[in-house]
Formats: sequence, structure tokens, C-alpha cells
Amino acid sequence: MPNNMSSEKVELKLLDNGLHFLIIGMNSESLNFGAKKDFLYWKYAILNFYSGIELLLKDRLLREHWALIFENIENANVQKLQSGDFLSVNYNSLITRLKNISKIKFKDVDERSIDELRKLRNKIQHYEFSLAITECKTIIAKALNAVLDFIDLNYKKTQLTTQQAELIQSIRYNAYNFAEYIDYKKILNSEILTKANKNGVVSPCPICEETTVVSFKNKKSRCVICNYSSANDEIAKSEYLQSIINRVEKILVEEKCSCGGNLIKYYNPMKIPQKIIAYCFKCGEKESMRLTNEFIEKK
Ligand SMILES: [Zn+2]
Ligand SMILES: [Zn+2]
Repeated sequence: MPNNMSSEKVELKLLDNGLHFLIIGMNSESLNFGAKKDFLYWKYAILNFYSGIELLLKDRLLREHWALIFENIENANVQKLQSGDFLSVNYNSLITRLKNISKIKFKDVDERSIDELRKLRNKIQHYEFSLAITECKTIIAKALNAVLDFIDLNYKKTQLTTQQAELIQSIRYNAYNFAEYIDYKKILNSEILTKANKNGVVSPCPICEETTVVSFKNKKSRCVICNYSSANDEIAKSEYLQSIINRVEKILVEEKCSCGGNLIKYYNPMKIPQKIIAYCFKCGEKESMRLTNEFIEKK
């Protein structure tokens, strides 16, 4: 590499740029990804979300060697890289170079999900399109899973600046509030959830708040949605209760369950769709109910 510093600078910018596109695609400022019903909102969510993913993939390739993000490597030079005045690698070459040169492994399902988003984005950008909002949400949920997998597998903590790590964290927390993403993760992990329901324990998670922490005898407990882990299900449950109590934005009511155990009912205004979660620490998750004003006033 002729000029180490210059490519490093581009590297940082590229990743930050990609993460910002993802955040904008998720409308993170108001933390209400999934709440908007406006069709135009979803159109721009798809455009921004795809741009974010493409920039992240390019950033990973750039870390291999800066010349690889030129479509024609023979035309690569540092001045063009810095000015941004060059034809950058197209999508197919990008994926091929990541696989063949950087030895990146994509799960088939993730590669398909990114490609599905890309095709939809191309239709919006260059042609015309019609699509139900529910389909837009599903396509983004799958691509979101793919990009979070990609980040997990390809960026070590030591390779990220504090700001980049914070942006990634904020993307994750937005994902936990996006119902379609949660549903998709539950489908991907349905086998282990069924197994744990039968032969182990499934308990609520202190991080993503879904009832998706699976525990088997003599094995660590792990959340299939956010990867939270603890030594066993008892620790997971007490950390969950603590996390609910600690978060002041939640409205919490404690009651006795018919089984004699302690039942908590709470509502988290950040979660969409908004509902009351009831959980008994003896007999498990009881139900989730539609949120009523009555419940909010009760507190
Ligand atoms: Zn979790
Ligand atoms: Zn109970």
C-alpha cells in the first residue's frame, strides 16, 4: 500500500457513512422503526437501508486492499480514491471479491436477503414498483438480520472507533423494537426454541425483552435474538427483572399469579407494537395484552 494514512481515512469514513445510512433507514431518532404507515417512508427506508449495506460491504473489501473497491483495478490510484472520482466496484464483483479474496463466508439465507433488498431498491430507483408495506417490512427485517450477522462476523471490537461501536449498538436496539425482525429471528430459531420448550427452559431476556433465552441442563443460557448469555436460567430471570425495574420509562405493576408466584405486568413505550407484557416468575410468560389507558393510569 503506497499511502497507508490516506486509505485509513477513507476506511473510517466509509464505515461511518454506511452505518449512518442504516440508522436513517431505521429512523432511529424517534426510535419508531416500524410504526410509520406512510408508504413513502418505506420507499426511502429501502433506499437508505440498501445504501448502508452496500457501503459496509465495500468497507470490508477496502480493509483487504483499497484498490479492490475500484471496478477496474488497473485504474486504481490513491488520488482518485481520495477524491471519490472513480467507478466503484459493482455489486456482483463486490460479493465475488469478498468471497474469493477476503474469504468472507455468507450464510445462503443472508446473501439471498441482501439480494432481495437490492432488487427491490433497483426497481424503486430505476423503474416503477408496487409493494405492500408488510412486504417492505419483511424484506428490510431479513436484510437487517443479514447485516447484523455480517457485522458480528467481520468486525472485531478493536477495529471499531467508539462512535462506530455506538452506532452499531443503536442499530441493534432499534432492531429489538422492530416486530418483523423479531418474528423473523423467531422463525430462524424455531427449532431450538421448540427443543428448549420441551427439554429445557425458555425465559425472558434482559437485553431485547423477548422470551427467547434458551437454557439446557449444564449449558450456558443464550438469547437467540440478541445473543445475551448467562450461566443459567435463574441468573437470566433475575437480570431480566432487574432490567425492567431499572428502566424508568417502563410502567410496572406487580401482582400475585394464580400459581402463587410473582407476576409482573409492564409496558415499554419504546416497543412496537405497544402492548402489556405479563410474566410470572414461577410459571412463565402469561400473555401480552393490548395497551389500555386504564393500565397507564393505574400506576
Ligand atoms: Zn435477547
Ligand atoms: Zn404463575
